[in-house]
Amino acid sequence: MRHLYLNGTWRPSASNEGIDVINPATEETLDRVPAGSPADVEAAVTAARAALPSWSETPPAERGRILAAAAELIRERSDRIARIIATDMGAPYGVATRVQTLMPAGVLASYAQLAETYDFEGGQVGNSRIFREPAGVVAAITPWNYPLHQIVCKVGAALAAGCTVVLKPSEVAPLAAFAFADILDEVGLPAGVFNMISGHGPGVGEALVTHPGVDMVSFTGSTAAGRRVAALAAGAIKRVALELGGKSASVVLPDADLGAAVKVTVANAFLNSGQTCSAWTRMIVHRDRYDEAVRLAVEAARTYTVGDPFDEATRLGPLVSAAQRDRVVRYINRGQEEGARLVTGGADRPAERGFYVEPTVFAGVEPGMVVEQEEIFGPVLAIIPYTRGEDEAVAIANGTPYGLAGAVWAGDEQRAVAVARRLRTGQVAVNGGKFNPRAPFGGYKQSGLGRELGEFGLEEYLEIKAVQL
Ligand code: NAD
Repeated sequence: MRHLYLNGTWRPSASNEGIDVINPATEETLDRVPAGSPADVEAAVTAARAALPSWSETPPAERGRILAAAAELIRERSDRIARIIATDMGAPYGVATRVQTLMPAGVLASYAQLAETYDFEGGQVGNSRIFREPAGVVAAITPWNYPLHQIVCKVGAALAAGCTVVLKPSEVAPLAAFAFADILDEVGLPAGVFNMISGHGPGVGEALVTHPGVDMVSFTGSTAAGRRVAALAAGAIKRVALELGGKSASVVLPDADLGAAVKVTVANAFLNSGQTCSAWTRMIVHRDRYDEAVRLAVEAARTYTVGDPFDEATRLGPLVSAAQRDRVVRYINRGQEEGARLVTGGADRPAERGFYVEPTVFAGVEPGMVVEQEEIFGPVLAIIPYTRGEDEAVAIANGTPYGLAGAVWAGDEQRAVAVARRLRTGQVAVNGGKFNPRAPFGGYKQSGLGRELGEFGLEEYLEIKAVQL
């Protein structure tokens, strides 16, 4: 059994309970991590509180120097870390390297730089000086789908801001968190500034959220768990940042470059086997170009070869767990029962071993169907026709409880931006605009509260003080 990272050392958990880590491609047990306990939470929060005064007073440039060294070590170890992620969560090795490892290295480096350049003390409003101060001890709770990226988004920003952290990574794919804790240990972060407890949500997560020594909770995960976290944090009016689920739409206007729109939308929907919170899992296309869009989507989907994450031909690895595979299969069956037309893929198992699901496309999807409303979190794209004008397309795009991301495709860029402005969502890509890891990322509506990444992400972890002179 692995140990927990507490107060600058690796120590056994106070609990004897463990959690098996499963390789989703082989269904074999890979490793075992502690199912931490309230006693571990107590030790971690005590260490984080004790480390706070000195870390929050460490010059930001020095904090940045340590984070930059950690970012560099992630880069140097990218092969090893990508192999860990490909093995415990199932992302194809190429995606595990580029998106799951090198992107977080870049995000951490950007927080290192921000620590140096951000103006923590220079604000002035009339006779008031404005100071930005660390929010305090942060509980960071993360999911399994981008296991290192989600951690870095929180821990990088919190440490740059001068907060101390207790991280609870997902129990489903926790091994990247252990590699990251090793790195923070090696770069000489003072004891207690960062602590990590593996374990389950209700046990460790809730003990952290309700602990009086925790000032702020930063949570990424499902909307259901986020609601519970926010309710528990409300007891002590704790600051909460929530990055939750999504059901994002790619809106294709009649004059769009249909080939590009469909190809990029399918790629976005299927990235990481569809286990991406911001995935464009609904494509909304004008009736005049609908049949052609469906044909192109089927063609594109069939190029997503399902297979072992380490096979170079693989574009879709397994889903992370049996539970996730079963959930996605249930949604595929539900879509057919609702009358959506399965045009490729389906619920059949593509392999005897491993939690694989075929790349799946539904046509004839109508607003309000379950497969149009709920986050499936698998490689399933729903194509929805609209017949009237833009207003109808925008209403469909905005017609779910979520608002995380989206896309607009149009020949006229200005028109596309005007439609993008009407989407009630935190991010929109126009004509395939590339993901920007320094731009604010987060949700409207039930996709969350607050923003991660870049300066907006850093500011989540800062309190604002006005001193009148
Ligand atoms: P999840 O909600 O099951 O778990 C996320 C984390 O919360 C895990 O560490 C889990 O142990 C913990 N947790 C669960 N219940 C808890 C509780 N009651 N109290 C405290 N902690 C608790 O989500 P998941 O299955 O790991 O991840 C998939 C979900 O995450 C999807 O809904 C996806 O959209 C969302 N997500 C959102 C973003 C974003 O930035 N908006 C990014 C990635 C994933």
